[in-house]
Amino acid sequence: MARSKSKKARGSGAARRTRHVRNAAGPVVIVTGGSRGIGAACALLAGARGWRVVINYRSEKRAAERVVTAIRRSGSQAIAVQGDMAVEADVLKLFREADRAFGRLDGLINNAGITGKPSRVDQIGADPLRRVLEVNIVGPFLCAREAIKRMSSARRGRGGAIVNISSAAARLGGPGEWVHYGASKGAIDTMTIGLGREVAAEGIRVNAVRPGLIDTDIHATAGLPDRVAKLAPTVPMRRAGSAEEVADTVIWLLSDDSSYVTSSIVDVSGGR
Ligand code: NAP
Repeated sequence: MARSKSKKARGSGAARRTRHVRNAAGPVVIVTGGSRGIGAACALLAGARGWRVVINYRSEKRAAERVVTAIRRSGSQAIAVQGDMAVEADVLKLFREADRAFGRLDGLINNAGITGKPSRVDQIGADPLRRVLEVNIVGPFLCAREAIKRMSSARRGRGGAIVNISSAAARLGGPGEWVHYGASKGAIDTMTIGLGREVAAEGIRVNAVRPGLIDTDIHATAGLPDRVAKLAPTVPMRRAGSAEEVADTVIWLLSDDSSYVTSSIVDVSGGR
């Protein structure tokens, strides 16, 4: 059944959450890039709320397995699937593995993303530029396509929710650091608005979260290990956010508690 039913018709949020935890056949979500950072926090919170979780990772198998173990300990089910989300064959494998393990799909968190190395536009190489655009734009599009095939009520699916992880860089532009990255997230914002409207009548909600400065590995991976400490005082709330603070909003958008929210972009950025 499509998820466009009124909230009243489906009962209270608290009652639904309890049902998920007790239900071995609970809803299933795929989290791309779920091994670390914001993706791992989303996977853990989804598991704690009774979702069965498919954790995708690219290279950090042990980190992904730690997230799987923690979700299983919390009483839900989880698997980890390796795959580069910029590669179509890997995206198809991820969704096939999810089908095989759980036989249904109710949610997708399009989280896997990279900044690439900082670079002014007049110095950027074509290959690193393509890589950022492929991971941050092509991957989420391909994942959304596969999720819609399974969730759309027009294709006999039961509806569902897609949450895209954008960035405050889509608004700020990333000057002097990564305009390419900001532009890739701008594309995700536009995709969220358009796709949300495209599938709204098919029981699928599509929303995005725009994190600000969040304390994860992404800054050190880009070669800027001091970036969080340097920029934190410039945030109106005078601190960086945590992955868990982002996950709270992501899982709200994934859940039926946001049942009338679609094509929306929510800033989680401490006012930045
Ligand atoms: P992170 O700590 O660097 O973690 C990145 C995750 O994505 C890891 O699980 C990594 O897998 C996975 N990944 C990277 N490339 C992948 C690929 N090609 N295919 C599949 N998985 C891939 O990053 P994060 O800070 O949590 O960022 C998560 C999302 O939030 C990204 O979309 C990012 O742009 C966005 N965001 C972050 C911030 C911030 O300040 N941290 C701010 C705004 C937006 P492995 O563990 O296997 O490497």
